[in-house]
Amino acid sequence: MQKQLPDEAVPAVYCRRCGYQLVGLPENRCPECRRIFHPVDETTCSL
Ligand SMILES: [Zn+2]
Repeated sequence: MQKQLPDEAVPAVYCRRCGYQLVGLPENRCPECRRIFHPVDETTCSL
């Protein structure tokens, strides 16, 4: 059996630097301050 997660399951994360909500972005980069983030790394974004 194949288990798939729906796209809606992506948790809301916020930029550590400026607080921008990092949702639905084409890349892991804050569009406000251009900081690179990793959605699973709490040191780069606020979960
Ligand atoms: Zn930012």
